[in-house]
Amino acid sequence: MTVICETTIPLRWVAREAKPEGTVVRVREVNVGGPEIVVMAGPCAVEGEAQLLETARAVRAGGAKILRGGVFKPRTSPYSFQGLRGAGLELLARAREETGLPIVTEVMDARQLPIVSDYADLLQIGSRNMQNFTLLEEVGRSRLPVLFKRGMSATIDEYLHAAEYILSGGNDQVILCERGIRTFESSTRNTLDLNAVPMLKRRTHLPVLVDPSHGTGHAWMVPSLACAAIAAGADGLLVEVHCDPLQALSDGSQSLAPEEFDRMMIQLAAIAAAMGREVGKP
Ligand code: PEP
Ligand code: MN
Repeated sequence: MTVICETTIPLRWVAREAKPEGTVVRVREVNVGGPEIVVMAGPCAVEGEAQLLETARAVRAGGAKILRGGVFKPRTSPYSFQGLRGAGLELLARAREETGLPIVTEVMDARQLPIVSDYADLLQIGSRNMQNFTLLEEVGRSRLPVLFKRGMSATIDEYLHAAEYILSGGNDQVILCERGIRTFESSTRNTLDLNAVPMLKRRTHLPVLVDPSHGTGHAWMVPSLACAAIAAGADGLLVEVHCDPLQALSDGSQSLAPEEFDRMMIQLAAIAAAMGREVGKP
């Protein structure tokens, strides 16, 4: 008797064969998946106007092309800072107006999609929601591009079948993002699975990003893993940067200070050049 496992059902939309030339996802004027390495950077959470604007100016000056900032935060404890929600979206819009950077922010639930879509240029689906199929079906109907993070305990097959929900719904503007998986290792927050980069590039036509911040949990490790990700063939990075990491309301220990971000961007330029690509100048 043959046991049919769901992940053996062929992928129709995300498979490389469906679009051998590869997909370039357009986020306003920024192309993700083209020759340029795209760095998306900003705070884990939007905390207030001064924090966001100072960080946004710093990441733009360092060469980031998209501003990240969470306003609906999926926190482990309900007593932790949950994000500024609607007020945070307004601040992101102000930061976009001032810096010209498009914004990426997380949508945690299908009910939040209308309001988040009014502000975001790129919808982030977080690790914890990788198999929130209702949300995936809703963003599949959206015309906005999606930054789709791998579940922390998901296999590559499960991840790709989940992405299939979005593409089969009609939205092919999907960027994949490896953000670390759970292993027995406890010296880092997660184990950044860089195997996923060449594997995803081979099996799908979608752009692949790496998040070395959640992948390690340690700011001091982020530049090394960022370089390794580009060397492994990633199309870009999602990096947490805070104007004052020690005061951050979430993920401060894995957030780069602006001067650390600048140093990392200089290193990345050399790795990108070795890979025949470039990191956009500010
Ligand atoms: C984040 O990007 O801040 C985040 C919550 O990431 P993840 O979903 O990968 O944990
Ligand atoms: Mn975070």
